[in-house]
Amino acid sequence: MTEFPSIDAAQLVKQAIEAQQRAYAPYSHYPVGAAVLTEDGRVHTGCNVENAVYPLTMCAERVAILKAISEGARHIRAVAVVTPNGGTPCGSCRQVMQEFGAPEMPVFIGRSDGNYRQRTLAELLPDGFSAADLTTNATTNKNEWNE
Ligand SMILES: [Zn+2]
Repeated sequence: MTEFPSIDAAQLVKQAIEAQQRAYAPYSHYPVGAAVLTEDGRVHTGCNVENAVYPLTMCAERVAILKAISEGARHIRAVAVVTPNGGTPCGSCRQVMQEFGAPEMPVFIGRSDGNYRQRTLAELLPDGFSAADLTTNATTNKNEWNE
């Protein structure tokens, strides 16, 4: 069994804070930074990138995750996200985390001052939709149906 180094939450939050300083948020004035640890031990960072056409804005978490995937990663081990006030990831980002992270994956939700709290992906996105739900010959969560 391969031993992976333990997750250094404080370091990951620190890298998210550094990414937060590169945020492009001229409209919301709500800078967000994220740092994603992948299975190979690399860290990919991201910041929110807003646009004058507001719906085109991209969240920091998704920037970091898409960067990681585009660099060859397929599994993420931890996510740190930092906002000015400790705001939590939006629903879209939770769904993208679901695609590449395990239910027990830690998500460190931090503030710009470095304080953070920890949740798991399953706590942030209970009963989330995944590739398994696309299997048409099996009903998901079979034991919960009145059949
Ligand atoms: Zn988001």
